[in-house]
Amino acid sequence: MRGLIMNQPLLISSLISHADWVSGDREIITRSVEGPIHRYNYRDAHARSRRLANALKKLGVKLGDRIATLAWNTYRHFECYYAISGIGAITHTLNPRLAPDQLTYIINHAENAYIFVDADLLPLIELVAHQIPSIKGIVVMTDRLNIPDSKVVNLLCYEDLIEDNSDDLEWPIFDENTASSLCYTSGTTGNPKGALFSHRSTIIHAYASALPDVLQLSEKEVVLPVVPMFHVNAWGIPYGATMTGAKLVFPGPKLDGASIHQLLVDESVTFAAGVPTVWLGLLNYWKDNNTNVPTLKRTICGGTAVPQSMIESFQEDFGIELRHAWGMTEMSPLGTVSVIKPSHINSDKATRYRIQIKQGRPVFGVEMKIVDDQYNELPHDGKAYGELMVRGPWITSGYYKVENSEAHDHDGWFATGDVCTIDPEGYIEITDRTKDVIKSGGEWISSIDLENQAMGHPDVMHAAVIGVHHPKWDERPLLIVVPAKDKVPILEDINDYLSNKVAKWWLPDDMIVAESLPIGATGKVLKTKLREMYGNHILPTAK
Ligand code: ADP
Repeated sequence: MRGLIMNQPLLISSLISHADWVSGDREIITRSVEGPIHRYNYRDAHARSRRLANALKKLGVKLGDRIATLAWNTYRHFECYYAISGIGAITHTLNPRLAPDQLTYIINHAENAYIFVDADLLPLIELVAHQIPSIKGIVVMTDRLNIPDSKVVNLLCYEDLIEDNSDDLEWPIFDENTASSLCYTSGTTGNPKGALFSHRSTIIHAYASALPDVLQLSEKEVVLPVVPMFHVNAWGIPYGATMTGAKLVFPGPKLDGASIHQLLVDESVTFAAGVPTVWLGLLNYWKDNNTNVPTLKRTICGGTAVPQSMIESFQEDFGIELRHAWGMTEMSPLGTVSVIKPSHINSDKATRYRIQIKQGRPVFGVEMKIVDDQYNELPHDGKAYGELMVRGPWITSGYYKVENSEAHDHDGWFATGDVCTIDPEGYIEITDRTKDVIKSGGEWISSIDLENQAMGHPDVMHAAVIGVHHPKWDERPLLIVVPAKDKVPILEDINDYLSNKVAKWWLPDDMIVAESLPIGATGKVLKTKLREMYGNHILPTAK
């Protein structure tokens, strides 16, 4: 027997209509690309999104067309999200930190019809304009006064499109499984692949993201996504915040510690989201300037493992809860979030930090298992480690324009490429990506664990570990460190410090002191680059 419940399609346009109706006066603040702070509210955002949707329709944009954005986190980018997907086209976010060749590949693979671009990013499009034949026009996201001189043909002005069109529009109703947005993985191995989200998956993900033990979104919150809208839709915040009517604060192009701090203070932000490299900048700014943000209660941090020293610094020095999260582009991106269970609240500090450095428990909707090389399921005992497989209503079932996804097994589980343990309470701990794990004498060493521990040493600001060739052990760990201010790290000191934190045979065989680590387009240390730079390093133990 079927339930007698309406089968109302879950559509992204309903988020902004709802916010207009019940939280219309809640503000959306932006540090604009032009410079000044821009303020308006959900009601205004909805009206302008409808104008933009009418403009898109006039430009001939149809259901299923891929419309690219190359833009920072701003109110105009937010309007694009709703206008493009609202009429059934697909919002395809491009990452401005990609190399021109990668941008060209992605634009051509997606066959984008138009590109919306921030004025300061137009030079990137100029570099590739002659190689992207599907593009009918380039919309510069500013007003007529601020449009830069450019040789690019078919340049359109965003504010002209808004001005020349009315907000008279009923959002169309279509199947909730219609594609809504497209986001390519960074392609650290091979070409980037497109994760194609649907209206249904986006809405279900937004519901889940708002839950108290996930992002805890509500109208009371003031949310600042530092994580870019081109990095898996800013982890879904532009949808979850709109669903709940949270005040949104967009940082625009300025992501340095001082600029973020100013916005956090001026707008009384309560919750912020970003990758560890961003928070490193902010923590340093707070410490150097002996300041803090009294309203900030929570941050969510992920994309790469968060070192314990960072969680401690947020919580002990500044009284801000840090929620460690794990996810992937293919997962929209939320997978797990680490919050302390009530049964651990009174545990000693060391136990609580031991839990907090784990990547957390699955958000409702995400199924997980770990498997060995033969796809046999492994126990959830916190010790056995294997490849993490996931399944759920916001996880990709294949890649855009890829015939057979090798990443899915016959039961539809998606192989994440991450190695982890799952403990009896459901907390996962990522040991490594399958391609980063260090294989020493037939055993595995977790580069993530070593890096995290090394970053707790006072002489170390940033650390990465790669495996390099060893004649006897196959691979051994090489530590690469960026020193803390005015410090000269010494391998013996660091190994002394590490020796009661990790197994003796894990200790790095050698260390390289570097000025900085190579950071990729989504703010993560590029292990591939490090392997290129130091992969041939001869270890003293190998001579
Ligand atoms: P890419 O890094 O290829 O752009 P994503 O941004 O989708 O792709 O990153 C997903 C990957 O990032 C995960 O598979 C995992 O390896 C890593 N990752 C994400 N969050 C964490 C975390 N909290 N701890 C460790 N690794 C993480």
